[in-house]
Amino acid sequence: MSMIDLIKRSCLALTAAIVMLCAGLGVHQTALAEPEKIKIVATTGMIGDAARQVGGELVEVRALMGPGVDPHAYRQTRTDIAALTRADLVLWHGLYLEAQMEEFMHDLARNQTVVAVAEKLPKNLLRGHDIYENKYDPHVWMNPNLWAKVVIEVRDALIAAHPDAETAFKENTDRHLQELDGLSIYATQILSTVPAEGRVLVTAHDAFNYFGAAYGFEVLGIQGISTESEAGLNRISELVDSLVERRISAVFVESSVSDRNIRALIEGADAQGHKVVIGGELFSDAMGEDGTYEGTYLGMIDHNTTTISRALGGDTPERGMLGKLAANHSRNDIQ
Ligand SMILES: [Zn+2]
Repeated sequence: MSMIDLIKRSCLALTAAIVMLCAGLGVHQTALAEPEKIKIVATTGMIGDAARQVGGELVEVRALMGPGVDPHAYRQTRTDIAALTRADLVLWHGLYLEAQMEEFMHDLARNQTVVAVAEKLPKNLLRGHDIYENKYDPHVWMNPNLWAKVVIEVRDALIAAHPDAETAFKENTDRHLQELDGLSIYATQILSTVPAEGRVLVTAHDAFNYFGAAYGFEVLGIQGISTESEAGLNRISELVDSLVERRISAVFVESSVSDRNIRALIEGADAQGHKVVIGGELFSDAMGEDGTYEGTYLGMIDHNTTTISRALGGDTPERGMLGKLAANHSRNDIQ
């Protein structure tokens, strides 16, 4: 055995300082035992982001629903099922958000650790559902203060699954909760600069009721809380009349919902001589592209609040809370 071989072999058992020396000698890192990561599968991108924030280096997270995916309509694929059954921990939203996966999730919960994180919120903080009397509006991520409570549920689910890492999970969570606090302060501040008569948010579906309640905006959605039902022509002409009467000048499209109905609104108002523009694209039920700032929860809500404030006449920093938003996210050009 050569000297190098001897050194390589002894490296396996040595301390961190010597590990660095070994790396210099070309010992492959996988030879050193790495702690196995906790495999987490989340349904929405927002829950996946929370799990990454809380779990940090200790977890490997996969979110089933990527950018632009509508959770109300999403059904698990064969690849999803394989990932779900292999996961150490499955996190889903609940509150009937993943309506098409509901049954599957309940079945999965018989054999695996499956937690519906938003179901655990105190019911007095939730808003009612417009169609189902005994159900709640699931879009709680639209208010960072409410979302913070979901992040705490994610933390507790991770601690229950992996008690050894409790300290790390708590530290990570506290850091993220501070970021959410900052986001909440920013949103309140810039949205309060929107003139009172302009505080009307017209969107494709009713995802923004928690947003409206938190920041004092009236919310008019063409479709209901779920995207499952088609909007009736009556609803559209009713909204066109509101736009014209109240001189509402901007409406918003959503990344996960077709913009056909929003265009019908603009055309309807135009026919009555009232000009309405698309104030921007909002992330309603899915975050932005992976690997971008808008593809994180902070970036998603920063983008939404900044876009809404600017389009409705508020005083808003060009690139958002941290100067990290992509430039040119006005969608006036797509008309
Ligand atoms: Zn929705």
